[in-house]
This record gives sequence, C-alpha cells and structure tokens, in this order.
Amino acid sequence: LRFPFKNAAWIIDQLIGHGFEAYVVGGAVRDYLIDRPIHDVDIATSARPNDVVCLFKRTVPVGINHGTVAVLHHGRTYEVTTFRSESGYEDFRHPNHVSFVSSLDQDLMRRDFTINALAMDRAGKIIDLFGGQEDIRRQQIRMVGRPDERITEDPLRMMRGIRFASELEFSLGHAEQNAFLRKASLLKKISIERIDQEMVRLLAGQGVQQAIHLLYKTKCIFMLPLLDHADALNETAAIQYRILQSDEERWAAFLSGCRIMKVSTFAKHWKWSNERSRNVAKIMHWTRFRMKTDWDVASVYFAGCSIAMAVNRLLVSVGLIKEAALPDAQQEVHQLWENCPIHSRRDLAATGHDFIAWSNEKPGPWMTSVISELEKQIVNGRIENEKEAIHVWFKRWQDNRKQPY
Ligand code: ATP
Ligand code: MG
Repeated sequence: LRFPFKNAAWIIDQLIGHGFEAYVVGGAVRDYLIDRPIHDVDIATSARPNDVVCLFKRTVPVGINHGTVAVLHHGRTYEVTTFRSESGYEDFRHPNHVSFVSSLDQDLMRRDFTINALAMDRAGKIIDLFGGQEDIRRQQIRMVGRPDERITEDPLRMMRGIRFASELEFSLGHAEQNAFLRKASLLKKISIERIDQEMVRLLAGQGVQQAIHLLYKTKCIFMLPLLDHADALNETAAIQYRILQSDEERWAAFLSGCRIMKVSTFAKHWKWSNERSRNVAKIMHWTRFRMKTDWDVASVYFAGCSIAMAVNRLLVSVGLIKEAALPDAQQEVHQLWENCPIHSRRDLAATGHDFIAWSNEKPGPWMTSVISELEKQIVNGRIENEKEAIHVWFKRWQDNRKQPY
C-alpha cells in the first residue's frame, strides 16, 4: 500500500492531526486505479466547513452551503468537502437539502456511479462499498443504488453516465441502460448549460461513437433541445471524431451528422457563446463549400487558415478525405495562405483616408463597398497590393459607379 497523492497528503495529515477523518474520494481514486492522468484531488472529511476554514491559511468558500471549501496548497487547489448526504432534488438542479453526516460510508452512498464512489485513506487503503474496483476491472458504468431512484434525484446523471462511458471507453450496465430508457424524458428538466458541458466532454471522449449509440439506444438524445428529430444515427455514429482537434470541430461534425444546418438556432437553444456559435457556423459553411470546390487562395483567405484546416479534418472524419492524405491537404492550405498577398483587411496598402482624399467624398457606406471589393480584387490577384495600383483601380471603380444604368 502506498499513498499516491503526495501533494494532498499534507492537507489530509492536518485534518487527521486535528482529530478528523479525511480521505481522497471520487474521480482521483478512480483515475489512479485506471491509470489515467489525475486532474483534481478531492478530499472528503468529517470536519465541518468552519473547521476547515480555521485549519488552513488559504481557503476559498467555493460551496460552503454544500460543505465545500477550497484549500490552496503549493499552488494547487483542493476541494475539501464535509461528509454529506443529499435529499429532495425538487428543482432538478441542486439538492434542496444537504445534511452533514458523520461517516464516510453515508457520503459514498450519495455518489452517482460505483467507480466514482471509491475513497482512499492516508495509508493507501481503498474503501469500496459498491464494487467500484470490480466495475473498473470489468470496464463498466454502474450506478450506486437503484438506478431509477438515482436518476429521478438528478437526471443529469444519465448524461454523466454516458459521458464517462465515452471518456473511459467503458460500457453502460444493462440495468442502467433500461433505467435511462425509462427516465430519459427527465433530461428536459435539466439546465442546458449542464447538458452542454457533458455533451462537450462526451464528444471529446475516446469512446464517442459508442457513447452516441448509447444516446440513441436510451433515447436520451431525443430529449435534448433540437435533437428530438435527430434520426441520422448512422451518419453521426460513423464519424471519426478522433481526428478532430477542438470542441468546435466536434460540434460541427456532430451537427452535420444530425443534419442540423441552422447553427444559429441550435446555438441559441444550447446557450452557446457567440464565439463558439460563429466558429461552428464557419466550419460548417466552409465544409459545404469545400465539398463542391477545391481550396484556392481566395477561399482560404476568406475562411481563414485555421478554419480551412479544421474543414479538412472534418472531411477526413466523415470519410471524404483519406486520413493518409491529410498532411498534404493541410500543407496545401498552408501554402495557399502563404501565397495570399494579404492576411486581413489591415494589410491593404490603401486605407479609408486614401479613398476619402482621392474622392473628395464624405465617409459613408460607400467606403465599406470599396474596401470589400478591393479586398476581393487583391486576394484574387487581379490588382497589386500597392498604393498606385489601387489608386488607378479606384478611379475606374468611381467611373463605373457614376455611369447611369
Ligand atoms: P471528472 O472531474 O473527470 O469529471 P469526477 O469523478 O471528479 O470526474 P466531478 O464532477 O468532478 O467528477 O465530481 C466529483 C465526484 O462527485 C464524483 O466522482 C462523484 O462521486 C460525485 N458527483 C458529481 N456529480 C454528481 C452527481 N450529479 N450525482 C452524484 N454524485 C456526483
Ligand atoms: Mg472532478
């Protein structure tokens, strides 16, 4: 036996030294046993939040009503949570009532999955009341207690279960699959922000294809906003997400697979940031473009180099470009980008001031048209990005404009 969480040892020793119990719990123990990278180390203790605040110099009361105090130690944050049980999830968001309990066992009972209900004591001994280690060996996600009850308490657990199946490449237990199927509609009670977070991680998991199958099999997918008619399972599940490099690329691939084209509507329902919405829309737009036409200097310029490369990856993920051809395809995009005389409007050799001086006109909407027309001309190589050449072109542009139709 040994205790692998060296940096957390000091915190646990302080708690134990003051007569409290303290254990590492949840994801850290699970990931240690699976031999995956450990993100954050959570500690469960018999100490009350006030005790924790008094015991350590630097603390943040991140969730003090739920018993959680963050302790800062050697540049890291550890969430120290008082043993607790939960009851009454009336708003399907937070338990109405958190009660502090005296034993670790009661605390482990409130946890969602057997693999998440593991604890380790300071000597390195595992406390496993529900067969979590066996489930790790068998690579399966099972709930603590009766699945139907645990889902009714907090329906988000269905998304979490499928998300863990994706991230860990585990299967979902049969009882859980049946319970999810019975309870799927409760997902409608869950805030979209929480669903979105799980979905992002689900799409990024190694087992995403299997996880998408589970979303369909349990009918959970049909309960999610705008996916109630998602019927293109074969397409979504056939996508090779592993090639994709960002959440935005994965969303673009997923939505294409579901044949959802109106990103702005989806983004509104899913409360996406403008930035995500814009980038997913761009990737999907330029993917449709690229399915009809090869890249050239102008399209790479207007898409942007990184979007064009994302599009190439997306085309690989759906099987329209062979994976072996991707490096060449990316090199080509890069070369086209390098060949483009400008990389943004700021690189134009003439500015709004020049056009005003040359035309003797007041600034107005005409300037926007000139600049975007000039941009097209230069990107397409029809005029040099050079002041005199632009001046000559501008005079012609003005003459054309003056001509009556
Ligand atoms: P990761 O951080 O990789 O998502 P994790 O297991 O640490 O995995 P968290 O969401 O950080 O997951 O939660 C920490 C622990 O709290 C979980 O391991 C689980 O025991 C418990 N937990 C979290 N959310 C729930 C929930 N909705 N229902 C019951 N227990 C939960
Ligand atoms: Mg965690």
